[in-house]
Amino acid sequence: MKKDIKVLICLFFILILIGGLLYFKTNIFSNNPPSSLPNDEEILLEKGVHLVSKESFVNDANTLLEKGYSADEINQIYEYMSEGNIKAILEHDYEDLSNFYQISNFDFLKLDRYKAYQMIENISFSDAVTRVNLKLDLPFYSEIEKASDVDSILVIVNKVYSLPSDYVPNDLVAIPSFPNLQIREVAKDDFEKLLAAATIDQVYLTPYSTYRSYDYQDGLYQKYLKEDPVEVVDTYSARPGHSEHQTGLAIDIKSNSHWYNLTESDYEWMKNNSFKYGFIIRYPKDNSFITGYKEEPWHIRYIGVEHATKLHELGITYDEYFDIYLKDSMNN
Ligand SMILES: [Zn+2]
Repeated sequence: MKKDIKVLICLFFILILIGGLLYFKTNIFSNNPPSSLPNDEEILLEKGVHLVSKESFVNDANTLLEKGYSADEINQIYEYMSEGNIKAILEHDYEDLSNFYQISNFDFLKLDRYKAYQMIENISFSDAVTRVNLKLDLPFYSEIEKASDVDSILVIVNKVYSLPSDYVPNDLVAIPSFPNLQIREVAKDDFEKLLAAATIDQVYLTPYSTYRSYDYQDGLYQKYLKEDPVEVVDTYSARPGHSEHQTGLAIDIKSNSHWYNLTESDYEWMKNNSFKYGFIIRYPKDNSFITGYKEEPWHIRYIGVEHATKLHELGITYDEYFDIYLKDSMNN
């Protein structure tokens, strides 16, 4: 009997000992689980990829690595490329993007066109991007899009972007000193200021064509077609829906001594001063290949002082300016 009790007591202690050992073991290992192995982010860091706080980043970065992008390339992509471009890059095979990282208006889906146009024209990659975006690698009027933000003073209307046939600006007013001509009210005061400033400098200017309706432009274009072949007419007259005059923000202006144009000195004055009042020379010399129009010294366009000043400093066309600086902020 005594022996049995001793055995039971021994068993009791053995059980306690085993229980204690198990408890100790479980705790030790739960405090030190496989955390000694690096996680996905640490693996990327080790490879030289800079982490980006974005939910799908680890997956996306690994996808890019699998496609053949180096850590450095991935870092550049996330530093400079838009969300839309990153999405497109993830969906396509590897491409060498080194020439394009810092070009703000770059569109991955046009990459082949950029490369081809850059080769043919022997221009910089940034010019190739802008010009292909303006569809200059295609014939004019071949892919027309609807202009958006049509009531914005920054609306773009050219051989790519068109206005609806029923678009009429809702704030058309007569120019006080030329009551038979209408422009948008938003441009009226600055236009009067421009005329006054010119007069002070003994530059006497007369506006002669301002807002024109879609139908009026259609009539003009059809009339010209009776005089010249279409490819010639297209160099001096906009097709209906593609005329800036329909925006109410364009003004044809002439010197008093001329029936439709500016004298050289008056044009010089306009080039040096119109931006101070928010107007730009819309179809400058040497830029026909971009605008699609022959030089029109008489045609000015209102875009507001801030942008007119910036454009004047850059010395580029509004088509380029819009694509580089404005397109993303408009609903195009
Ligand atoms: Zn005009």
